[in-house]
Amino acid sequence: MSTSLTRRALLAQVQQVALLAGAAGLINSVPAEEPRRTMTIQTVLGLIPVADFGFALPHEHIQCDFIGAEQTHRGRWDVDEVTAAILPNLLQLKERGVTGFVDCTPAYIGRDPRVLRQLSQQSGMHIVTNTGYYGGMNDKFVPSHAHEESAEQLAAHWISEWKNGIEDTGVKPGFIKIGIDEIPETAQQLSPLDAKLVRAAAQSSRATGLSVTCHTGGAQAAYVATQLFIEEKGNASRFVVAHSDGHGHAINRKIAELGSWVSFDGIGYRPLEEHLKIVLPMLEEHADQLLLSMDRGWWWVGEPNGGKIQDYNYLCDTFLPALRKAGVSQTTIQQLTVKNPARAFAQ
Ligand SMILES: [Zn+2]
Repeated sequence: MSTSLTRRALLAQVQQVALLAGAAGLINSVPAEEPRRTMTIQTVLGLIPVADFGFALPHEHIQCDFIGAEQTHRGRWDVDEVTAAILPNLLQLKERGVTGFVDCTPAYIGRDPRVLRQLSQQSGMHIVTNTGYYGGMNDKFVPSHAHEESAEQLAAHWISEWKNGIEDTGVKPGFIKIGIDEIPETAQQLSPLDAKLVRAAAQSSRATGLSVTCHTGGAQAAYVATQLFIEEKGNASRFVVAHSDGHGHAINRKIAELGSWVSFDGIGYRPLEEHLKIVLPMLEEHADQLLLSMDRGWWWVGEPNGGKIQDYNYLCDTFLPALRKAGVSQTTIQQLTVKNPARAFAQ
């Protein structure tokens, strides 16, 4: 039998199966595909090809305002003052070869695209901002309308920011950031508000192709949230579980097995040896689903001169050299710092 005949026979079979499936109503039950991925990153200055993102930090902060959703507003900080204070730290990062920076400060905790845009222009750093609401810390940062509205309504706000830009800035979010509180170890459900945020995140991720970074109060909440995201037809590979450093190997492995990202973004908050013991075993099993970052920075709104602002150098100066010393290859380091952030945040 010639190859073309075989192929034709196969095609006929495929068509027949498709017809039968259609007749049985199977095709209609297939969930709508998320938009085709374009392999671009939405930065505060516009879309860039994913290859330009380079060595990227997937979870840092430029500015935070912890006063609460009801009281925070733009008048509480000065764009130029924050820019001037943070710029040297971004330039130090650039000297170390870092070119991508994911700003994880959500709306109502001091997210300000005007600051991020100005910093990106002055430093040349590719900065990514977000849409979404943060339900951690007992919902202090959740705006009052979110208590009343449905997951669909919340998703509509976030999708609108993705389409039209944030507030009056025209700056578009490159990912969705949500936060949830910890639940007891045996609990199988998040609080109703946190569950609503995860559902809204799944819906808006599906509609936009954006990934979701979820701040988690602890391991059980992280696992339940990942399951809920998938149940709500979110694409598991678009879900990043933040603060996995403290979740323990068992949960981290389960989350990776579900297909989601395990983000070790507290690098520098624990003694080096302890942190290596957390990262190395996961690296052996799931190097293609790990992210490394420091959750550092920031201009602390309300403190004189922004409080004690931390630099972002620990990962490059201390942690990566320690990984190399522990035998991790340059190819794997490249995967952790370049390939993985690109895959996690490309839309
Ligand atoms: Zn953070």
